[in-house]
Amino acid sequence: MTTDSGDATLAWVVVGAGSAGCVVARRLVDAGHRVTLVEAGPPLEPGAVPAGIDADNSFAALIDDRWYADLLATRTAGSEPRRYLRGRGVGGSSAVNAMVGLTGDTDLYRSWGWDDAEWYSRHHLLPLAVAGSDELGRVDRALLAASPQARRAPLTRRGGRRVTSAEAYLWSILRNERLDVRADAPVDRVEIDQGSAVGVRLVDGELVPADRVVVCAGAIHSPAILLRSAVDVDGLGEGLQDHPAAALLLELRRGVVGSDHETAIGLSTSTIVDADPIQILALNHLGAEPGPGMLLVANMRPVSASGTVRLAADDPTTEPIVDFDLLSDPADVETLRSGVRMALDLLAHPAFDSIVERVFIDDRGTTTDTLDSDEAIDDWLRSHSADYVHASGTCAIGRVTEHDGSVRGHRNLFVCDASLFPTIPNVNTHVPTTMLAERLVAGWTAERAR
Ligand SMILES: Cc1cc2nc3c(=O)[nH]c(=O)nc-3n(C[C@H](O)[C@H](O)[C@H](O)COP(=O)(O)OP(=O)(O)OC[C@H]3O[C@@H](n4cnc5c(N)ncnc54)[C@H](O)[C@@H]3O)c2cc1C
Repeated sequence: MTTDSGDATLAWVVVGAGSAGCVVARRLVDAGHRVTLVEAGPPLEPGAVPAGIDADNSFAALIDDRWYADLLATRTAGSEPRRYLRGRGVGGSSAVNAMVGLTGDTDLYRSWGWDDAEWYSRHHLLPLAVAGSDELGRVDRALLAASPQARRAPLTRRGGRRVTSAEAYLWSILRNERLDVRADAPVDRVEIDQGSAVGVRLVDGELVPADRVVVCAGAIHSPAILLRSAVDVDGLGEGLQDHPAAALLLELRRGVVGSDHETAIGLSTSTIVDADPIQILALNHLGAEPGPGMLLVANMRPVSASGTVRLAADDPTTEPIVDFDLLSDPADVETLRSGVRMALDLLAHPAFDSIVERVFIDDRGTTTDTLDSDEAIDDWLRSHSADYVHASGTCAIGRVTEHDGSVRGHRNLFVCDASLFPTIPNVNTHVPTTMLAERLVAGWTAERAR
């Protein structure tokens, strides 16, 4: 690892207190380092968690200033940019996500040279628990009845409530004098002197000096910060991926109501079909209130990797231009089409037939009758494909960064978040991001122990 300082206790600045940033800050403090954790959005402290984040209904967490309201992204070639969800504030996306906590395939990790992935899958601090039977919603129950491959997904919850990465990793060290958490402090750029990071410049102009800087601002904002910092490394901001997905909207029959418990807590997702490379996720409703449901069909092993994050302006308050270019490889369309056919078969099962009045494929009320050929399905997918909020790969290990997360050609500058994945994991990205952060910081702190 490249460093200028021989000092055993270093001053680190960690940019972004999301899934990865909380892990990095915690493990560095545990190892005796001093950490300033700088987060663009609001704080998240014990006893002051907004009700929406604590609710079981993950849609209720998307409140106020806890997401990037101006961030847009283009999904497929020719489609209009639409909002792209990212968590903002301490906890990052872990505070607003749907809580599905899957570890992924050890073969994939091995292909990245991680022979120790299984150890990290057991030694992170996120609790994982499936929803109780009394919490299952109507769409959950139908999916469990219709598919032998359906199962309740583990959720990052304890005692029936969400556990964010802030709670799991930061709360127990908030009083540690080696940790300074600075919320509401957006970073403009990393200050770099002759190829070596020396601190970060906040949007308000303040310089926060550091021996080492770790950028953990996520797969959209980490490349934007590095581009603003004039980091000139081939591939920076390229290779953006997400899991391309197709949304089947379920209008539920009149009189079909869930239990009082389901309506009250409105757990939005808890059941998945895992049929590699397809995942089908049940959503019992699509907002803070009970309403229509959804089956979200996703291609979990996309090969298209031509997405980009580019700066729209040098101004740090302007969101970058995000183009996922999903489905650019025809193989991804074919895979997703097979998933759509699988979901349509499931919807013909009596368990769905008894609760679903109609299935729509867009918000104009187009029904699934129109999906009467491969060509019709492919046209629909190319024009309407959704993302799975799993942005990855824009500072990828092996292209932009070395295996320890250090930025190529620079000293004392690291990235650690979902932007590092060499290829998008074949599961929902929160737990893999946590494992990645645990693994990288273990390498950095082992260097100190030597
Ligand atoms: C709505 C939603 C639902 C999801 N559901 C699931 C799910 O059910 N299961 C799953 O596994 N994954 C899910 N994900 C994806 C998963 O949560 C993310 O992949 C993961 O949290 C990414 O972690 P990260 O550390 O890379 O980024 P984040 O957790 O997004 O953290 C980045 C942090 O950096 C901060 N930041 C950004 N720019 C700056 C700046 N300039 N200065 C300072 N700070 C900055 C942000 O505010 C944020 O706090 C979901 C994501 C979303 C948004």
